[in-house]
Amino acid sequence: KLNFYAGPSVLPVEVLEELQANIVDYQGNGFSLIEASHRGKVYDKVHNEAIALIKELMGISDDYSVIFLGGGATLQFSMVPMNFLVDGKVGDYTLTGTWAKKAYTDAEKIGKVHAVFDGKDKNYTTLPEASSVKPSANSAYLHLTSNETIGGLEWKHWPETGDVPLIADMSSDILSRPVPVDKFAMIYAGAQKNLGPAGATIAIIRNDLLERCGDHLTAYLNYKTHTKSNALYNTPPVFSIWGIKLVLEWIKKTGGAEAMAKRAEKKSALLYGTMAESNGFYRCPVDEKYRSTMNVVFRLPNEELEAKFLKESEEAGMLGLKGHRSVGGCRASIYNSLPEDAVSTLAQFMKEFQRKNG
Ligand code: PLP
Repeated sequence: KLNFYAGPSVLPVEVLEELQANIVDYQGNGFSLIEASHRGKVYDKVHNEAIALIKELMGISDDYSVIFLGGGATLQFSMVPMNFLVDGKVGDYTLTGTWAKKAYTDAEKIGKVHAVFDGKDKNYTTLPEASSVKPSANSAYLHLTSNETIGGLEWKHWPETGDVPLIADMSSDILSRPVPVDKFAMIYAGAQKNLGPAGATIAIIRNDLLERCGDHLTAYLNYKTHTKSNALYNTPPVFSIWGIKLVLEWIKKTGGAEAMAKRAEKKSALLYGTMAESNGFYRCPVDEKYRSTMNVVFRLPNEELEAKFLKESEEAGMLGLKGHRSVGGCRASIYNSLPEDAVSTLAQFMKEFQRKNG
C-alpha cells in the first residue's frame, strides 16, 4: 500500500527492516533495546548518535543544545511560553492555520500574547511576506509554524527578528530542506512525520536562551533540566529515538537536507502540476507562493466526487488521502520517506479519475 497519512506516517522500508531485525536481540547484545536501561552503554550510544546526526544534518553549531522530550509538539505550545514568556514581555505569534493557533491559544493562558499576523480574512490560505513580519516592541519571542500540516502552507523565507528570538514549530517539515538554524533561537518538532516513530519531540535551543528559563518551573517543564542532563533527566522515549537515529542515517545516506529538498520539490511539483493541467477539476486553495512541499491539499468540484475519489484511491491502495476532518477535501502528505514512485502513482490515478469523472 502507498502511505499518504499525515502522521504518524511513512518510514523508509530499510528502517522498518532494521527495527524488525533487531527488535528481539539488539545487534547481538542478547536483549532488546526497548527492554534495556536508558542509562546503559547500549542505549547511550543510540541516544548520542541520534543527537549528533541531528546536529550534523541540520548544521547546528555548539551554541545550541539538542534534546528529546515527551508530550509531542503540543507540549511545546506550553513549554515555550512557560520558559520564555517572562518579565512581562509579549509573545508574538503568526496565526497561519490550525497549528499556529493552537500554539497561540496555549500561550495566551500563560502570559501576554500578540498576533503579528492573522490569516483569518483569507481563510488561512496565505502567509505574510517574511520581510513584513516584525516583532512588537516588548517581544519575548516571535513564533511561527514553518509548515501548516492541515492547511498545506509552508514558509519559504524567514522573518528577520534582530535580537528577538525566532522560535519555530517545524513538526511537519523538519529536515525536508536546508534551514539556516542560526536565524532561529529555538526549533521544535514532533518526530512522527519526517523523523521517525511517534513518541519523541526534538527541541533545538540556543544556549543563551536557557538563562531565561525561570526556576519557578517544575523540573520536567524547565528546558534547563533536559539540556543539563543530555536529555536523560527521566526515561526518554527510547523506541522513538532508536527509530529517529535510523531515519537520520537514511537521510544522511540519501544525501542529507539538500537531497530531501530536491525530492520534495519534485514530488510536490508533480501533484501541483497535475492540478494545473486539470482545467480546474482539481483545485489547490493555497496561495501558489506558499504551497507546501510536504502536505499537498486539494479539492474536487464537489463533495460527492471527493468521497468517490477517496473511496476509489483507497481501493487502489493509496491510504490517508482524506483531508483533515476540520477542513475536508483531500490531502497527500508526501514526507521525506515517501518514494517518488508513490507520488507518480497518485498523479496517474488523479488523471485517470478526472478522465472518468470530469
Ligand atoms: N505542530 C504541527 C505543525 C503539527 O502538524 C502537529 C501534529 O500534526 C503538531 C504540532 C502536534 O504534534 P503532536 O501530535 O506531536 O503533539
